[in-house]
Amino acid sequence: MEEVPVKVAVRIRPLLCKEVLHKHQVCVRDIPNTQQIIIGRDRVFTFDFVFGKNSTQDEVYNICIKPLVLSLIEGYNATVFAYGQTGSGKTYTIGGGHVASVVEGQKGIIPRAIQEIFQSISENPSIDFKIKVSYIEVYKEDLRDLLELETSMKDLHIREDDKGNTVIVGAKECQVESVDEVMSLLEVGNAARHTSTTQMNEHSSRSHAIFTISICQVEKNTEAAEDGEWYSHRHIVSKFHFVDLAGSERVTKTGNTGERFKESIQINSGLLALGNVISALGDPRRKSSHIPYRDAKITRLLKDSLGGSAKTVMITCVSPSSSDFDESLNSLKYANRARNIRNKPSLNFSPESDRMDEMEFEIKLLREALQSHQASISQTSQTPSEGVPDQNRIHSLEEQVSQLQEECLGYQDCIEQAFTFLVDLKDAVRLNQKQQHKLQEWFSRTQEVRKAVLTQFPGHQSIGNLEEGPQHCALAADQVLFTQKELELEELRSQVQLMVQENKGHAVTLKEAQKMNRL
Ligand code: ADP
Ligand code: MG
Repeated sequence: MEEVPVKVAVRIRPLLCKEVLHKHQVCVRDIPNTQQIIIGRDRVFTFDFVFGKNSTQDEVYNICIKPLVLSLIEGYNATVFAYGQTGSGKTYTIGGGHVASVVEGQKGIIPRAIQEIFQSISENPSIDFKIKVSYIEVYKEDLRDLLELETSMKDLHIREDDKGNTVIVGAKECQVESVDEVMSLLEVGNAARHTSTTQMNEHSSRSHAIFTISICQVEKNTEAAEDGEWYSHRHIVSKFHFVDLAGSERVTKTGNTGERFKESIQINSGLLALGNVISALGDPRRKSSHIPYRDAKITRLLKDSLGGSAKTVMITCVSPSSSDFDESLNSLKYANRARNIRNKPSLNFSPESDRMDEMEFEIKLLREALQSHQASISQTSQTPSEGVPDQNRIHSLEEQVSQLQEECLGYQDCIEQAFTFLVDLKDAVRLNQKQQHKLQEWFSRTQEVRKAVLTQFPGHQSIGNLEEGPQHCALAADQVLFTQKELELEELRSQVQLMVQENKGHAVTLKEAQKMNRL
């Protein structure tokens, strides 16, 4: 499996109005036409993508996220997570704020990705899509279902499925049909998210939020469907996680006390665990050693995305203000380490379900074959002697024979008359040699036919003996016919026996297939 590094983007937000008012200096900027960022006087970092203060939401989406959405539709799992200090622009970039009130150009990644997914669905009529969304947050190391607030956190569990993918058991998954439906669910979830006002951000997210959109694709085999044959299909289930991490923060700066202070501790410990996972994965010397995914909920949830089978983009958001220099430098170092993480993206075909479909189809065919055999056997056994179809056939053959006999009699009559007439004519008329020769030929042919009839049906006198001939002829023909019928009957009997044998074979195969299916 090919190794693909986690792609790391850095986005520098513009100075906010209050920062401009307080005459904050800019300490981070992008170097034009490069993928580099300079912080302070001379510290330069290189990333996969760099977005400066004038970058638009559209640019960020098209460059970083669109390829992930296309991969999702191809069948890969994808993750984008936003990292950075409080107030650096994570929620703005991911698009997890009050989505309904945001103008088109300001829309973040989630609304754009949703639009793209539904667009692609409408362009693929040969595929059946089923889309589900879930939205959970990790608040103070507890899971909360943002789409079903009544769900107790004790009912939500992080588990690994049989393919090693991380799943949240107990989270509500809403099946959706349209962009609007997803957007309203996103809005509901965002409203339920833990946010509060800190000195650094009016709407500081106090939790890590994971919005997941999962797509189940069932490929239709239209050709087969048109033929009325089996409807073969292939399942692909892929997921896109949009992760808006809570901001890294310094308690002294946020001015947090009481509950906010406790939150800060939890947020920072989760991010510390994430940092440790990133370090462990990114450090070539520690590659084979233990990766501390289990240290925090967020690292467990991001296991597939960091060092797993998903395609991942990490967007590090930084504030340009010199008052945030330390946090920004830290975030850039964090991001730089993440560049060393390698994932092994794999397509999520489910060969098991394909195999199951094939087996189900086989069973269906066998069942049909069995039913038709059983029906034909019961039909045969309904007639006490030889069976209705055979009798019908004999009857129609008999009719054909008597028809042919009648025709035959007609011809015989004609020939007889012609024979007598020509004998008279031969004596009465003077014929030339050629005519005599022709007539002689005809007489000898008629004689031959007479002889042939006599050999085939002994006792038959002559063509001319019309009183006796047809009766003998009919009797002989009947005899031949009965022998023929008997042979046919014998053949049919052996066919029925063969079918019974075959039927037994099918029953055995069916049993085996059912046994395998149950397994
Ligand atoms: P975070 O989620 O990292 O705590 P937010 O996304 O809430 O930060 O952003 C904090 C403030 O900065 C918000 O008012 C947001 O509108 C603004 N902001 C962030 N990034 C940008 C940007 N690229 N362009 C304009 N405003 C931004
Ligand atoms: Mg936020």
